[in-house]
Amino acid sequence: MYTGVYMLWEDLLTFIFPEHCIGCDRSGSALCAICERTITIKAIALSGTTAVLLDYQNPLVKKAIWALKYHRRRSIGRYFGNALYREFFKQLNRSGKHAKEKIILIPIPGGKKAVAMRGYNHAAIISSAIAKCGQADGLQISSANNLLYKKKEVGQQVKSRNKSEREKNVADIFNVRNGEKLRGKTVILIDDVITTGATVREARRVVKAYGPKRVLTIAVAH
Ligand SMILES: [Zn+2]
Repeated sequence: MYTGVYMLWEDLLTFIFPEHCIGCDRSGSALCAICERTITIKAIALSGTTAVLLDYQNPLVKKAIWALKYHRRRSIGRYFGNALYREFFKQLNRSGKHAKEKIILIPIPGGKKAVAMRGYNHAAIISSAIAKCGQADGLQISSANNLLYKKKEVGQQVKSRNKSEREKNVADIFNVRNGEKLRGKTVILIDDVITTGATVREARRVVKAYGPKRVLTIAVAH
């Protein structure tokens, strides 16, 4: 209820104050063509199942992700979703081989407090944008925004000193509802930034228990 009212308000604000570029404040879009040239959009595989698009060390990338997470810039999430779609999914439709593949996107859930405060899970904005592009292209793709959820809050990753501590920190934090719909499907986890990878590894472990055909991970930046 709160979220619905909030979103209406957000749309109204966008109407009164048109979209402006995160880099230079020029009005028109979340990231203008000139600023876009300062970031390198290139798919990079981090492993056999994980790929990212942007370098998190680029100040503009960092600023954009920050604005999406903390300044309620949902349009940036849609921008990222569109970019991810172009780089990772667009060719599925053309090759034909994967055109009939059933793909379920699962956004990595945010912390309960953070989501309640900003009124949305930012990874779900990205995920929904990808699904929307794919559906328009005739792919069998959907975003299951409430399937994976957090059952407990975890301490900030930065506080964890070493790898084993980080792994322990995220152990058993996720739960799945309606997991039976994942059986035999291609599942793609969607996240904003992959730092250590501990969170997505844990999400992957939980999701795999429901028998998907394969589980991949795609994130905006690393
Ligand atoms: Zn700009």
